[in-house]
Amino acid sequence: MPSLSALHTFGLDASAQTVSRVDTVSTLFALAQQQFPNLILGEGSNTIFTEDYTGVIWQNCLSGITFSEDADCHYISAASGENWHALVCRCVDLNIGGFENLALIPGTVGAAPIQNIGAYGVEVSKFITEIEYFDLKDKSLKIICTEDCQFGYRESIFKHQLRDVAFITKVMFRLPKQYEYVVNYGELAALKLPSIESIFQTVIKIRENKLPDPRNVGNAGSFFKNPIVPINIFTRLQNEYEDIPHYLVSNTHVKIPAAWLIERLGFKGQIHEGIQCHPQQALVLTNYASGTGRALIDFAKQIKAAVFKRFGIALEHEVQLMGQTERIKL
Ligand SMILES: Cc1cc2nc3c(=O)[nH]c(=O)nc-3n(C[C@H](O)[C@H](O)[C@H](O)COP(=O)(O)OP(=O)(O)OC[C@H]3O[C@@H](n4cnc5c(N)ncnc54)[C@H](O)[C@@H]3O)c2cc1C
Repeated sequence: MPSLSALHTFGLDASAQTVSRVDTVSTLFALAQQQFPNLILGEGSNTIFTEDYTGVIWQNCLSGITFSEDADCHYISAASGENWHALVCRCVDLNIGGFENLALIPGTVGAAPIQNIGAYGVEVSKFITEIEYFDLKDKSLKIICTEDCQFGYRESIFKHQLRDVAFITKVMFRLPKQYEYVVNYGELAALKLPSIESIFQTVIKIRENKLPDPRNVGNAGSFFKNPIVPINIFTRLQNEYEDIPHYLVSNTHVKIPAAWLIERLGFKGQIHEGIQCHPQQALVLTNYASGTGRALIDFAKQIKAAVFKRFGIALEHEVQLMGQTERIKL
């Protein structure tokens, strides 16, 4: 049985029944005649295999990128198996602005729309015009435009109606030549002369200082989503915790950093049977010392329960936790 430990960045020891590589769109059509995938996998940076997986995995290895432009915009059509950060680097080299805030996010281009990757004030959906996908039900290629993708904070239609039905094959982007740099966040706001290159380099520096590199210690980035709560709930919390950080996301809702809630409860740096709550970023759990899927789930449940008990907030996990046959919920 193929090992999965190198196919997900958390690196837990697990195996799979079948892993089929998808290198070309014609492979997709051919494979679809023989089997139905239970899971589509990119680089496994948002997926954690907590035990041996008995389903069929299709690993996305589609490649190819084309660039074009007109007077106002750059257009990119990228095959979904391309590495996201490599695409960002190419854009920076070509002086194409827009993606620089999203530097160093691991994973494939095709997974980027799934949870609408975002960092430092920018979400990828801002630049997506259309997505091509292979519909596994009727075995045909389809196009969905951005207005129909139901993009939100770490959300899209691909996590709901189109989950495990759509194999994303290509993502089309439009990057306007005239646009304003997004430098609202901390160290970016301090840049005297923001440019594509300086934002890109600063984002890389911040991330390298703050986040563990999955090549050194297994992790899947943020384990939990930042909760978005109604203002009345936030006000109640603020009365008790004056220093609670928050961002207004609408007239009615406020986003609270989950890391603050977790840190406040003393989990930062704690180790539970080989799984660590990262000492620099409490939102990240790591495979510190040959942890197991069971230990990870236990620890995550402990954190979730403690946050709920103290703050009345139900954390949701951002990562895809895979059990033996399907995704699991905490
Ligand atoms: C160190 C680190 C830092 C991170 N930082 C950020 C960050 O700043 N912001 C952020 O948003 N995320 C972040 N992430 C999460 C992760 O990088 C993203 O979610 C990324 O888009 C996942 O890509 P992947 O190819 O590894 O997806 P996978 O983990 O392989 O798949 C993720 C989900 O998408 C589905 N999927 C994958 N490819 C396809 C496809 N072609 N068609 C249909 N479904 C598909 C899978 O079935 C799965 O449900 C971070 C992760 C790590 C390890």
